[in-house]
Amino acid sequence: MLRIALPNKGRLTEGARDLLGRAGLELDARGERALQASLGAEFRALFVNARDIPEFVADGAADIGITGRDLVVEAERDIDVLLDLEFGRCRLVVATREDSGVHALDEIPAAARVATVFPRTTRAFFAGRGHEVTIVPISGAVEIAPHLGVADVIVDLVATGSTLRTNGLVEVASILDSSAVLIARTASDGDGRQIPELVAALESVLRAQNKRYLMANVPRNALAEVKRVLPGISGPTIVDVLDGDLFVAAHAVVDARDVYRVISDLKALGAEGILVTKIERLMP
Ligand code: AMP
Repeated sequence: MLRIALPNKGRLTEGARDLLGRAGLELDARGERALQASLGAEFRALFVNARDIPEFVADGAADIGITGRDLVVEAERDIDVLLDLEFGRCRLVVATREDSGVHALDEIPAAARVATVFPRTTRAFFAGRGHEVTIVPISGAVEIAPHLGVADVIVDLVATGSTLRTNGLVEVASILDSSAVLIARTASDGDGRQIPELVAALESVLRAQNKRYLMANVPRNALAEVKRVLPGISGPTIVDVLDGDLFVAAHAVVDARDVYRVISDLKALGAEGILVTKIERLMP
């Protein structure tokens, strides 16, 4: 039984549950406050704080985990990132007060006080630039620190930037891009099979989420152009239509962002009965 640590509340909880569900692993939690849940026959989910997950995985309390890349970097433990899960995207940035006159990293004075929930990452970032700053570690609501006179600068997570704007702060540098990741202890082998199987299942879901399956009846005599418009993974699948001398059915996987253009192009070639569906999993 592989133990997987999952965020018990907060921004990554829903995304983790949703992704696992789409990979065929439905959480069977009894009530909102459950500390554990079964996850198919082979996994046991442990619900803990996202920030603690790197420690739990590094210490062996869980075999694998889902948490933010930012938290993995901050933990500075021996952890392997097995897969980027493409949700929970945000950036760790350096920001200053709009009215501070400091609008670039190089303008931050030596010995500036930097408030953050990410003391290790922040220290490493400034030290790497030969910049001596004083770290003010705090545990939340970092954006108000400059207004309380606690710090001159903050290092905090942003997604849209609206919290910074609301608090009269401006971004002066980006330290790292984060998103949810699947992690394991470095050199952990699990039972040898379960971890690679889980990675493959999650990858198949991630691969499928930006793709659509498109089907259309296209004129037989336009097949050369159809192949150009609808390249698919290894060319479109062409199927005979019963009683259809003039038309054949063309099926192909297309990038979700290309669907609009492909439909217009197919229509221009005389296609009919166009159908677009989501794909649950894709294993090429
Ligand atoms: P939590 O504090 O439990 O809600 O989780 C915070 C984690 O969610 C962060 O460490 C990031 O990995 C992730 N996250 C994604 N988007 C954001 C955001 N806009 N602000 C803060 N954290 C975010």
